[in-house]
Amino acid sequence: MYTIKTYLMAQTLEEAYSALQKNKSNVILGGCGWLKMTRKRFWTGIDLSGLGLDWIEQRDGWLEIGAMVTLRQLETDPALRGLFGGILPRSVERIVGVQFRSCATVGGSVWMRAGFSDLLTALSVLDTEVELYHAGRMPLEAFFALPRNREARDILTGIRIRLDGRDAACCSMRNTATDFPAVGAAVSRCGPGWSVAVGARPMRAVRVPEAEAALAAGDLQAASRAVEALGYAGNLRGSADYRRKVAQVLVRRAAEEILHREGKQ
Ligand SMILES: Cc1cc2nc3c(=O)[nH]c(=O)nc-3n(C[C@H](O)[C@H](O)[C@H](O)COP(=O)(O)OP(=O)(O)OC[C@H]3O[C@@H](n4cnc5c(N)ncnc54)[C@H](O)[C@@H]3O)c2cc1C
Repeated sequence: MYTIKTYLMAQTLEEAYSALQKNKSNVILGGCGWLKMTRKRFWTGIDLSGLGLDWIEQRDGWLEIGAMVTLRQLETDPALRGLFGGILPRSVERIVGVQFRSCATVGGSVWMRAGFSDLLTALSVLDTEVELYHAGRMPLEAFFALPRNREARDILTGIRIRLDGRDAACCSMRNTATDFPAVGAAVSRCGPGWSVAVGARPMRAVRVPEAEAALAAGDLQAASRAVEALGYAGNLRGSADYRRKVAQVLVRRAAEEILHREGKQ
């Protein structure tokens, strides 16, 4: 269990940000689902829950989701079920259990950039931007590329996803129902363009442009081959070879789900 010496309920984002910069042992608190698994000692825990960062709104062609929205909110928000094939609720509904999802936040999940993240696999096939208090707004890919050292600390205030009418689907393979995914996949279609991402390889989700081109050409088998060619590694949840094989199946299933909804299969 982690320990915190002092606690700050931030009144403004500026107060939270300057507290974060003051001491390298200060930490932003999301839902603390991950933090509580660590044995770290922090000086000040900076609580964002008084800042109203828990909105889910559709505005000016974007879906905006605040950093303190919980995974359970993502799962149960009625509007989200009708957007992007319901990929957002579906991506999180198998994470641990309801109580856990009622605490864990979108901000913590995106900030961590974890290889196993089901949410990041799904967000990778949507037109997603990340909003940081200091560094500003940037595409998800640019956020992934940011340095992760202590000097680069910032506050993730929310994400936004372009409401471009795309359909999307995701699936994952888990060894047991509440375990981390052994491998995950997400696919989306926007007009003629496809997006494909494979996550929990066990490295972080990546897009697979060759598979996207193959799906655009209507060639599911070539898409599978492109997914096979990705880099995978082994750990206690599965070997690299196992992941490679399962990822092909997951991508095919997700693509078929979209084609099925379009009445093409
Ligand atoms: C046992 C267990 C099983 C899990 N299984 C899965 C799974 O199967 N699939 C999956 O996708 N995920 C899984 N997760 C991860 C989980 O879904 C969350 O991603 C994780 O708990 C982080 O969210 P949090 O709100 O709890 O963040 P916290 O634990 O509060 O914080 C995590 C890190 O993010 C930082 N942080 C938090 N919020 C912000 C912010 N707004 N701005 C800047 N930094 C911030 C914190 O300082 C900390 O460094 C699991 C986690 C646990 C503990």
